[in-house]
Amino acid sequence: MPSSSSPFVAAPQQARLPYPYRPEVDVVEAALATLQGQMDWVQVIRSGRPWVEAVRDKPAPFWAMESLLREYPISSSEGLALMRLAEALLRVPDVETAIALTADQLGRAEFDADSVVDGPHKMLAGISASAISLSKKFLPGADGEGGLLSRLGAKTVVAATVRAIQLLGRQFVLGRTIHEAMEEALDQRKTMENARRGNADAATGLRFSYDMLGEGARTEHDAERYLASYANAINAIARGQVAASPETADGISIKLSALFSRYEDGQRERVFGELLPRVWSLIVQAATANLNLTIDAEETDRLELSLDVLDALAARIATTFPKWTGFGLAVQAYQTRALAVVDAVAEIARRHKLRFMVRLVKGAYWDGEIKRAQEGGLVGYPVFTHKEHTDISYLACARSLIAHADVIYPQFATHNAGTIAAILQMARSKNAAFEMQRLHGMGEGIYREVMRDPTVACRVYAPVGEHRDLLAYLVRRLLENGANSSFVHQLADNTVDVERLLASPMTTARPPAFPMPAYLYPMDHGLQRRNSTGIDLAVIAERAPLDAAVAATVVPVIREATTEDVIATMVRLDGGFTAWNERPVNERAAIIRRAGDLLDARLAEFCGLLVKEGHKTLGDCVAEVREAVDFCRYYADQAQIRLQDQVLPGPTGESNELRMNGRGVFVCISPWNFPLAIFAGQVVAALVAGNAVAAKPAEQTPAVAARMVELLYTAGVPKDALALLHGPGETIGASLTANRHCSGVCFTGSTQVAKIIQRALAHKDGPIVPFIAETGGLNAMIVDSSALPEQVVDAVVQSAFRSAGQRCSALRLLVVHGSIADGVIEMIRGALSVLNVGDPALLATDVGPVIDDEAYTGVSRNVARLKKDAKLLGETAVSSRFPRLVAPAAFELASISQLKEEIFGPVLHVVRWNGDVDSVMHEINDLGYGLTLGIQTRIDSRAQRLARLARVGNVYINRNMIGAVVGVQPFGGEGLSGTGPKAGGPHYLFRFCAEQTLTVNTAAAGGNAALLAGESGGH
Ligand SMILES: Cc1cc2nc3c(=O)[nH]c(=O)nc-3n(C[C@H](O)[C@H](O)[C@H](O)COP(=O)(O)OP(=O)(O)OC[C@H]3O[C@@H](n4cnc5c(N)ncnc54)[C@H](O)[C@@H]3O)c2cc1C
Repeated sequence: MPSSSSPFVAAPQQARLPYPYRPEVDVVEAALATLQGQMDWVQVIRSGRPWVEAVRDKPAPFWAMESLLREYPISSSEGLALMRLAEALLRVPDVETAIALTADQLGRAEFDADSVVDGPHKMLAGISASAISLSKKFLPGADGEGGLLSRLGAKTVVAATVRAIQLLGRQFVLGRTIHEAMEEALDQRKTMENARRGNADAATGLRFSYDMLGEGARTEHDAERYLASYANAINAIARGQVAASPETADGISIKLSALFSRYEDGQRERVFGELLPRVWSLIVQAATANLNLTIDAEETDRLELSLDVLDALAARIATTFPKWTGFGLAVQAYQTRALAVVDAVAEIARRHKLRFMVRLVKGAYWDGEIKRAQEGGLVGYPVFTHKEHTDISYLACARSLIAHADVIYPQFATHNAGTIAAILQMARSKNAAFEMQRLHGMGEGIYREVMRDPTVACRVYAPVGEHRDLLAYLVRRLLENGANSSFVHQLADNTVDVERLLASPMTTARPPAFPMPAYLYPMDHGLQRRNSTGIDLAVIAERAPLDAAVAATVVPVIREATTEDVIATMVRLDGGFTAWNERPVNERAAIIRRAGDLLDARLAEFCGLLVKEGHKTLGDCVAEVREAVDFCRYYADQAQIRLQDQVLPGPTGESNELRMNGRGVFVCISPWNFPLAIFAGQVVAALVAGNAVAAKPAEQTPAVAARMVELLYTAGVPKDALALLHGPGETIGASLTANRHCSGVCFTGSTQVAKIIQRALAHKDGPIVPFIAETGGLNAMIVDSSALPEQVVDAVVQSAFRSAGQRCSALRLLVVHGSIADGVIEMIRGALSVLNVGDPALLATDVGPVIDDEAYTGVSRNVARLKKDAKLLGETAVSSRFPRLVAPAAFELASISQLKEEIFGPVLHVVRWNGDVDSVMHEINDLGYGLTLGIQTRIDSRAQRLARLARVGNVYINRNMIGAVVGVQPFGGEGLSGTGPKAGGPHYLFRFCAEQTLTVNTAAAGGNAALLAGESGGH
C-alpha cells in the first residue's frame, strides 16, 4: 500500500510527448531533416572499414556468441534448440525433467556434421555437431523410459549440456557477484591500458556500469531483494574507486521493474508512493559516492511514466545534491517519440538546473512492442518498423543530445561500426564530451579497434549474477545477435561486404514494413477483415474519451417484458423472418459489418456503459467491445464466404444446388459476464445466417444489450427481425424457449440452466430444434518444472483473478510440479498481495466487484468453506469500500478430485503433482468439464502430447488462458462445458442454418438441349 511517509506524490498525469502513432514516414522525414549536412558518410565508411576488416581477420573463438550463431542461426531448428535449452535448462531442479527437456530439444534438431555451413569454424563446428548427435543416442524419447545404460548416458549428456550453457552464459556476465565482477573489470582495464601503451588519458579508457541480473519483480519480496542487491553493489563500487566525477567513475544501471512489481502506468500513485522512495535511497548512496546511476529503459507503455519519475526525482536531487551530475537514464531510439524524449529530458534537467548522463540505445524489446501493438489493435506501432529508421532516429537523437551538451553528458551505446564511426565524427565536429558504451560479451572486436584511439572513452554494461538469474538476459542477447538485421550478426558473415555492412541508413523514409494492427488479418476470399480498434491506456489522448464516457454514463432503465409480450413478439418475428431470410446473404453481411464499424467508432460510449452496468474494469471493457466488433466483422465475412448457394456436381440433364437458409426465430440467451460480446456474438451470428432473433439478455445487464440492439437497427437490421426481451430466465427465458415459433436456442450460461433448457426443449411438441450451449468449466493449468515461474505467475494472476474470476474460461485449478511448487506458491502469494481490488472505473483497479449480491453471497460462502476445508495460500487485502468486492484468494487442495464445483469468482485452487504428468491430465479430464486448459512447459513434445490427451476445447501453451480472439482462437468446450460449435470459428454459422438442396431436371422440357449443343456431359 502507498507509503504515507513517501515524499513523492504523483502529480496529475500530463502528456509530455507527442502521439506515438503518427505516420512512420513523417516521423522519419522529420528526423532526417535534422541530420542534413551533419555527416560525411564517405568518411564514416573510411573510418569503419579498417575496424571491420581487422575483426574479420581475427574471428572470434568458436564458443563466442557470434561464431555459434553463425553455425546455428536462431532461424534454424538447431539454433532454436540451443536458445530454448539456454533459456530453461539451468533452472530445472529435477533430473527427470532435465533429461526430458534436453532430449526434446536436441532430439528435434539436426546436429549433423554434414549440415554445418562453411565458415572459419567449419571443422570445430563439425566436431561439435558430431558430438551432439552422438550424445543424442544416449537420450531416451522426451518422456520415454530408456534402460539403465541409456539413463546413465542421458545424465552425462544433460550435465555436459548444462556446462555448455553455463559457458555460453558466462560470456555475458562479468561475475557471479559484484566483487567477482569488479575484479574482472580491473583485469580488463589493465589489459586495455597495456594495449594503449601508456596512452591512457584519465578522461578516457574503460568504465563499467554494473547491472544486477534477474527477472522483473513479481512480489514485494523480490523487489526488496533487488533493492538490497543494488545497494550492496553501489557500496562495493564506491569502496573500490576514487573517481573525480561520475562521468569517469564506474556506476550502476537499475531497472525500475526490478524495484517494484507494479511499475506500470496504471499504478502511478503507488509508483510514486512505493517505488520512488526505494530509488531515492539508491540515489542518496550514488550521489554521496559521486558515481553514475542510470535507469534502464523498458517497455513503451512506461515511457511517459518514466519521465514523470525522472522529473520527481530530479526535483529532489536539485535540492539535496545540486552538484551531482551522475543521475541518468536510457533513451531508446526505436521509439517513434525518441527525439521528443531527448528534448523532454533536457527540459527537465534545465528546469531543475541539473546535468544528466543520458545513454542512447536502439532498444531491446522491439519484437515485444510489435506484438503488443498487434494484440491490442492499436492505431499503429510505437516503434519503427524498419531497422534503418531506428538507425536514422539514433543519429538524430545523438545530434540532439550533443546539442543539449549544457545539461546532458551523452553516452552512445551501440556495437554497430557504422553508427560508432558516425557518432565519433559528429561528436568531434562539435567538440562534445561523450562516451561510447557496449555490452559485456558483445562488440568486443569492434571496440578493440575503436579503442586504439586513446581519446575514446568506453563504458561496459556489465551484468552480474548467478546462472539462474542470467537466463532471460541471455535469451535477449541470443535474439539480438541472431537477428538477420543485426550488425553483430552481419559482421560475422563474410558474405556481407564492407560497403553493405557500413551503408548509410539515411535514405528516404519508407512506408511501414508490415501492415498496421488494423490490417493484421490476411485477405480471405477477397475479403479483408479489419481488426477491431483498441486503446492504448497509457496514452492520455487515447484514454481521455474513455474516462469522459465513464463519467458521463447514466445507466438507463430497461422495461421488462411480460409473457404476453413474448407471445406477440414471437409472432411478429416469425412474420419478419421470411423477408429477412430472403435478403441476399451479401446484403445481410453488409448490415452486420456496418454494425461492427458503428460499434468500433462508439467504443468509449459502450465502455462507459459496461463499467457502470457490468462493473467491469476499463481494460476488460475495451477488450469486450473489441470482441463484439470482431464478431460482427468475422461472421459477416464467414456468411459471405460459407453461406452462398453452392453448385453441386451431378449427371447431365440436371442441376443441383445447396442453399443455406435461416431456420426461423432463434432465441439467444446471454450472460452478464460478457453482456456485450457474447450478446452481440450470438445475435449477429443468428441474424447473418438469415434468422429472426429474440434476444434475452441477462437480467443484470439489459442496458448494454438494449444499446446494441438499437445500434443493429441503425445499421439496417429490420425491427421485425430482431427484438429484445428483458426479464427473468424463469419466466421470459422459459416462455421464449417454449414458444412454438422458437426454431433454435443459443445459450451461454451455467451448465445447470443449460440442462433446464435442454429438458424444456425435449418436452416440447413440434420440431426438434438445435440447441447451442456454451457453459462453464473447471479449467486447469498444468505446470512442470521446466516452466518459468515468473511467466506462470503472470498467467495465473491474469487467468484466475482478472474480471474477478467471472469468466467461463478462468483458471480454477493450478496443478504445479512438486519440485517448484513452493517457489511458485510463494510468488502467487506475493502477487496476490499487490493486486488492487476496488472501483472498476479507476485505471489502477485490477479486480472489480462481483456482479450482484447473490454472486457475492455465493462466492463468499465458498471462500468461507475453503478456509475451513483447505489450506489458505494467500489472499489480497481489500481496503476499498466499493460494494461487493471479494478478496482474490488461493487455496491448496490435497488432490484434483477434491475440486467439485466451479466457483464463479476470484478463487484459485492449487494442487501439487509428482510422477506421471499424463495421469494428471486424465484426472483433469475426469472432472468432466472441457473448456480451457493451460500448459506451462518448455518440453514441446510434452505440451503437444498433453494437448492431444486433453478433452478440452481451448488449450493454451505458455501463456494465459483467457481472452480468446475471434477467428484466432475460436472458443467453446466439450463435455459439461458445452455443445459446440465454437464461437468465433469457421463452423459456427452452420448450426444456425437450415440446409436445402435444389435439384432441377433441366431435361424435363423436351430433352437435354445442353448436351446436344455440345456442352460438357456432367461434372
Ligand atoms: C550499454 C548498453 C546499455 C543498454 N541498455 C538498454 C536499455 O536500457 N534499454 C533497452 O531497451 N536496450 C538497452 N540496450 C540494448 C540495446 O537496445 C541493443 O543492444 C541495441 O539495440 C543494439 O544496437 P546496435 O547498434 O548494437 O546494433 P544494430 O544491429 O545496429 O541494431 C539493432 C537494433 O535495431 C533495432 N531494430 C532491429 N530490427 C528493427 C526493425 N525491423 N525496425 C526497427 N528497428 C529495428 C532494434 O533496436 C535492435 O536492437 C543497451 C545496450 C548497450 C550496449
